[in-house]
Amino acid sequence: MTSTPTPLTPVDPARLQEVLDGRWAQVRRDAREQLGGAQYAPVYGESMAEARERVTALTQELARTGRVSLGFPREYGGADDAGGSVVSVEMLAFADLSLMVKAGVQWGLFGGAVHALGTKRQHDAYLPDIMSFALPGCFAMTETGHGSDVQQLRTTCSYDPATQTFDLHTPHQAARKDYIGNAAQDGRMAVVFAQLVTLGEGRGVHAFLVPIRDEQGDPLPGVTIGDDGPKAGLLGVDNGRLSFDHVTVPRDMLLDRYGQVAADGTYTSSIANETRRFFTMLGTLVRGRVSVGGSAGSATKVALEIAVRYGDTRRQFAAPGEDREVVINDYRVHQRKLLPALATTYALHFAQEELVSRMHDVLGAAEVDEAAQRELESRAAGLKVANTWHATRTIQLAREACGGAGYLAENRLPALKADTDVFTTFEGDNTVLLQLVAKGLLTGYRDAFGSLDGWGRAQFVAEQVRETVLERTAARGLIQRLVDAVPGRDDDVALTDRGWQLRTLEDREKHILDGAIKRLRKGAATPGARPFDVFNDVQDHVLEAAQAHIDRIVLEAFVAGIERTTDPAARALLSRVCDLYALSTIEAGKGWFLEHGRLTPTRAKAVTSTVNDLLGELRPHMRTLVDAFAVPEAWLNCAVLAEEPGRQQAMAEHDAALRAAGVEPQQAATATALQMAPAQ
Ligand SMILES: Cc1cc2nc3c(=O)[nH]c(=O)nc-3n(C[C@H](O)[C@H](O)[C@H](O)COP(=O)(O)OP(=O)(O)OC[C@H]3O[C@@H](n4cnc5c(N)ncnc54)[C@H](O)[C@@H]3O)c2cc1C
Repeated sequence: MTSTPTPLTPVDPARLQEVLDGRWAQVRRDAREQLGGAQYAPVYGESMAEARERVTALTQELARTGRVSLGFPREYGGADDAGGSVVSVEMLAFADLSLMVKAGVQWGLFGGAVHALGTKRQHDAYLPDIMSFALPGCFAMTETGHGSDVQQLRTTCSYDPATQTFDLHTPHQAARKDYIGNAAQDGRMAVVFAQLVTLGEGRGVHAFLVPIRDEQGDPLPGVTIGDDGPKAGLLGVDNGRLSFDHVTVPRDMLLDRYGQVAADGTYTSSIANETRRFFTMLGTLVRGRVSVGGSAGSATKVALEIAVRYGDTRRQFAAPGEDREVVINDYRVHQRKLLPALATTYALHFAQEELVSRMHDVLGAAEVDEAAQRELESRAAGLKVANTWHATRTIQLAREACGGAGYLAENRLPALKADTDVFTTFEGDNTVLLQLVAKGLLTGYRDAFGSLDGWGRAQFVAEQVRETVLERTAARGLIQRLVDAVPGRDDDVALTDRGWQLRTLEDREKHILDGAIKRLRKGAATPGARPFDVFNDVQDHVLEAAQAHIDRIVLEAFVAGIERTTDPAARALLSRVCDLYALSTIEAGKGWFLEHGRLTPTRAKAVTSTVNDLLGELRPHMRTLVDAFAVPEAWLNCAVLAEEPGRQQAMAEHDAALRAAGVEPQQAATATALQMAPAQ
């Protein structure tokens, strides 16, 4: 069943851009205006050495602009603006992804760890040089043997009261720090995560500031530095390996905000439980994960912009009786590729914007709210997963949508693919992160700390599992009203009814979660069942619940984003895009909905035909939807777009259509694109 929607009118991309730019519009504007030049654009065909040299120089230049300090405290020249710092990383990701990662390592991971885990004494000593890049640094957590389960790191740092120093040691090859950004070439200091031992007792993983190179760039005594060598992408980032042979670390180099060692070796911490302390420490570093998700979103937008613009001018095959060949964006299957991906990109943009806002407020709160912190971590994990998997899928799809041209380095897509591939792995492997999301859903946020794959005692978790009451995430009142307004019988409700769409995704999440909980409880009640087996048997079910949860919260965020949109034409367009996101998500899960009697076969077919109707309806707006991302033309650095045949004419027609609808298209994206278009 479908309703007849009001026809869409042309929309000025600038109006949409305003909505997308959101709370940190100023940071986005500033990046476009001040950094939007060609020097930050990606470069193709470099050797690894050339890429590293260029990206290091650009990182220095970026530091000089002062635009990297947003997240640091005001007293050191920052702005105490955690949200702004993430958004500025997202903006860099439109440009060069190696630069984005290098900047993320220096100011997000290294600087962020000193800021979050250190104390004033350490901030005074190191933050100014970190911010200016006078002190390039590393975040050395992962070891060759342990990446996901970092509570099991093997590097040790043992305190000796006699010398009042720590002894940092790599006991074997698997304990070597690996993949560490900034280690192979530039890093002079590292935040090293190691097992703290004092007075013969292990106190769990802590972070230590450790100089690794001298002024000449040579490794310091006892430090062995290796190079990870060529990688699939991110050529400009110098990832390397670090080993420590009984390196002496002064007592005051322990980043001791959460755990202190007195001169006599006595250990103190405000958090008694070791696991809890460790996860609290990790929780303060959530910004890195949020930045990676957002940057994946930016890379996806660039890929879609290239594919949509290419598809608007590329012609193949003529319709019978026609002279001119058809532009490929007019083919339904091409729309099937690009438009649902575009709709999901919009949905994830709103979810990311809401996450950044929430992160900013939670991290900036005067009082630590532990429940809010746990919820933030879970949301950050979920959206990192959704954004990075969506990027990997969509960039491949955009590559194919550009045919052979998509395979040429000069057209940007191969670099986007190679550079973003690892986003599904670093800052937390996606599968492991989904377990974190699932764990939050199962146990609530009470006393549920544990290593990501440890899960604690089965019986304990089975007792803790919450009743499946789903918490609304965005625009709670509005969404509840929409859901409550849906009439009882599904078959009578239009597929484009927002309340029905919300209720459908909510119902799926609740059902999957209920099922997983029942199975966990049953498993835990079986005499002799091993906790590992109880969880392992249900692992796929639990992850499916997490995925369903992410789909639901993303839709809720989209609905909340539309609610904030005041321009009527932009709001109507976003509403159709939201229909496409919701219905293509339901269409992708048809198997489940049919299996569980949530859709009749007739209604399932209607979902597909409604998606097709939406594709036809949104076809004329594809270009507007990508223009609204307002990626500076120089950053795209895509040869096939620079040569876009008939580009000026297409833009002129686009503007004429806007004018006919009473909209003056002089602002932002359209105007910028025209001004920057190369001479034909
Ligand atoms: C380019 C690059 C840059 C990096 N930069 C840094 C850096 O600067 N600093 C730093 O500290 N680290 C860095 N890393 C390391 C990165 O964070 C780790 O690679 C990542 O956390 C995954 O760990 P792993 O490689 O040990 O994979 P593993 O944890 O061994 O995962 C391998 C596979 O096992 C699966 N798996 C693991 N556990 C489970 C489970 N419980 N259930 C089901 N499946 C499971 C995973 O899904 C995955 O498919 C970087 C890595 C790369 C590639």
